[in-house]
Amino acid sequence: MAEHYDLLTIGAGSGGLSVAERAAQYGAHCAVIESGRLGGTCVNVGCVPKKIMWYAADAAHRLHNAAGFGHKLSYSGLDWLQLVTAREKYIQGINDWYSGYLADAGIDLITGQASFVDKKTIAIGEQKITADHIVIATGGYPALPDIPGAELGISSDGFFALREQPRSVAIVGAGYIAVELACMLNALGSEVTLFMRHKTPLRSFDAMLRETLMQQMQADGIQVTPKTEIGRVLAHPDSVELIDQSKHSQGVFEQLIWAIGRHPASQDLDLQKAGLTADTQGYITTDLYQNTEQKDIYAVGDVTGRAQLTPVAIAAGRRLADRLFGKQPDRHLDYELIPSVVFSHPPIGSVGLTEEAARASHGDAVKVYSSRFTPMQHALAPHPVPTAMKLITLGPEEKVIGLHICGPDADEMLQGFAVAIRMGACKRDLDDTIALHPTSAEELVTMK
Ligand code: FAD
Ligand code: NDP
Repeated sequence: MAEHYDLLTIGAGSGGLSVAERAAQYGAHCAVIESGRLGGTCVNVGCVPKKIMWYAADAAHRLHNAAGFGHKLSYSGLDWLQLVTAREKYIQGINDWYSGYLADAGIDLITGQASFVDKKTIAIGEQKITADHIVIATGGYPALPDIPGAELGISSDGFFALREQPRSVAIVGAGYIAVELACMLNALGSEVTLFMRHKTPLRSFDAMLRETLMQQMQADGIQVTPKTEIGRVLAHPDSVELIDQSKHSQGVFEQLIWAIGRHPASQDLDLQKAGLTADTQGYITTDLYQNTEQKDIYAVGDVTGRAQLTPVAIAAGRRLADRLFGKQPDRHLDYELIPSVVFSHPPIGSVGLTEEAARASHGDAVKVYSSRFTPMQHALAPHPVPTAMKLITLGPEEKVIGLHICGPDADEMLQGFAVAIRMGACKRDLDDTIALHPTSAEELVTMK
């Protein structure tokens, strides 16, 4: 007879682990099925290794700027392999920790590729298991373009597998990953060229953020090539050549990285056997409560196509478990006002509406406060970076409906303000808060 669980998750990444963990805390008998490494994208080929590389890049910037404060340093370069080896060891520690944690929590880990047999049954190879509740948390994988020679490039997964630092890199894309990899590789000493289809990267972000970051990337020496679409890639002995859609060469590079988005991992699940359908892009549609179209089958995280961020997958998973096993029948994730950070140089922090979106929805009821300055930590630096901030308010009470920062420490500044905005803060609440001085964050409570 097939083993039976109260709850089963397909995928042990951010979403799958969080729903099983919370459900087990309520006493549910749970299992997670994982075909790869525990922790999923975030831990193995996403947020965690990325942030380690970002810290390495940040250290490089700080070393350069230390001269302005009188430090006499000599720099003899980066040991890429040492960095990558230390990063992998750190990640292995997280994998091991998860493994121990699952055992301690009484959650079964089933290793292998899962697919539906019917609405209640999952197959992993020859093994079959059944569950009262099944959660699809299979995440996604990097997209590659459908052009000749695309396979000559790597994705973000391939970037994390690099054992040697590429001297020259072409990055194609315009989203989070393109910008983050471009900034960190540049800081670590590679020659970086960023190819985008449009004028600026991060098109869904506020214009102030896009423009500030573009200028800084160029000032830092990144070759930004806007309005260029790659149509073909040619192989050379130790390099690749990019040919644009007008058949012009865009240069020869040691490494090519595609960063053009991700696809949901839903195609191998045999969804139809459970009466489920994915949308045209492969995402699994869910309602407010993470319910799919089939009773007792749910989906959380990237595979749903909504706000593809680790904390979102975790929050959706935990709330689902609260609802199913924690006697909280209305518990669900509110997808409004999700803060997000881009680990560029300098980083970007953003929550709420952009100015463009706010004006389109609310017209003249919108009032915008903005500020641009050199943060004090860069006052003596040979390569100072700017900080740009914007507050978007609505109506006579000036309720804050958007907050955008591009500048050093924007990543650490945003979280507390996101809490205030979620609680309905108005400009007056910010003004009435005593500033912390001297900091960059104080600008947000003293804006005129
Ligand atoms: P995943 O973490 O992808 O987990 C899905 C798991 O399901 C995988 O382990 C996979 O092996 C497994 N799986 C798939 N199909 C099957 C199957 N059929 N059977 C068994 N197992 C299966 N987010 C942030 O918030 N901050 C960041 O800084 C950040 N940086 C990122 C950097 C990069 C380079 C990338 C690629 C992503 C980044 N993200 C970041 C996004 C974040 O990683 C994802 O939003 C998050 O991992 C989604 O979690 P998930 O549980 O939906 O999917
Ligand atoms: P994104 O969706 O952020 O960006 C991909 C961009 O690439 C598109 O918006 C598009 O921009 C451009 N693009 C698409 N197709 C092509 C093409 N054929 N040629 C050139 N450019 C193309 O995807 P990412 O891969 O950067 O990241 C995936 C997701 O992972 C993110 O959306 C985010 O949710 C998450 N993530 C979060 C991070 C964080 O929180 N810091 C870090 C990394 C990832 P355009 O239309 O302007 O051309």
